[in-house]
Amino acid sequence: MVADTIKINLNTEQRAEIEKLIKKEVYQNLYSEIKKICNYLKDKKFIKTAELINAKEKVYKICLLDNTSALKKFTEISQNAFEEDSKGKCATLTKETQKYINTGYNEVYRKFSTHAAAYKILKVMGVNVCPYCNRQYTFTVHKEKKIRPEFDHFFPKSDYPFLAVSIYNLVPSCGLCNKGKSKSSPEKFLYPYEESFEDKNIRFELCNVIENLLKQEEIVVKLGPVEKHGDLIKQYNDSFKIEALYEQHSDYILELLYKNYIFNDEAIESIYRSYEEFFNSKSELEQLILGKYEPVNFNQRPLSKLTRDILQQLVRK
Ligand SMILES: [Zn+2]
Repeated sequence: MVADTIKINLNTEQRAEIEKLIKKEVYQNLYSEIKKICNYLKDKKFIKTAELINAKEKVYKICLLDNTSALKKFTEISQNAFEEDSKGKCATLTKETQKYINTGYNEVYRKFSTHAAAYKILKVMGVNVCPYCNRQYTFTVHKEKKIRPEFDHFFPKSDYPFLAVSIYNLVPSCGLCNKGKSKSSPEKFLYPYEESFEDKNIRFELCNVIENLLKQEEIVVKLGPVEKHGDLIKQYNDSFKIEALYEQHSDYILELLYKNYIFNDEAIESIYRSYEEFFNSKSELEQLILGKYEPVNFNQRPLSKLTRDILQQLVRK
């Protein structure tokens, strides 16, 4: 597993494992629920909409739409089908049918999200830290223990019910971020399975000039560059309160400044020489002492992006 703020980067084996789990889940459990919705649609003569989900194989494919353009394309297809079917029908029937779809898919999602398969899929993904904030751990422990991340529906399920159990529409995230994003339009965010702050070169920046060690109250950390990504940064602050929350980590940042000062290159070199047998490289020792992780592992440790960004900004002595 290598992993917005942080990308959820799944390799071929993980994707294959997820496909296997989804197939089993669709064929054994989910389809019986979805079939009820399909039959209702047929009954109300919403034929084009019913056709979208009238076979297990079709539902399976919807569950595995794995990129933003495919997800978006499907939302257009389903909206068009529903509009076509609504033509010539009374407004009450259309409204009732829409409500039935939403309620039905809410139930499908509820069943999926409490079923063992959801936990297994999350285990395969291994997203151990929230990809939106990189602050909170999002471990999946076990179905019996009921410990797992929340699922943010990237395309909100109230607007896009057919994507309620599409696995790559589900972003494992912390409760705070899931609530913060809520029903916001997906266009306003980076799709975590494809893009991250790293790709956009968005960084945490200490606003003060770092010549001496700061006092805790002097620490101000912001996302940047605002000249280039102002709108996106504003969106993340509005929805996830990123800067306001990171402001609370000034104690951690202060410790980092001290560690960077004390464990300078000379100190690292000396420790490395004493304990060389423990490490494959000097950067492993730096990771241990400074908590400096590579972007590929940002989804394993909270605040790892903040740490890396600030360490890059600081002068090493
Ligand atoms: Zn979060």
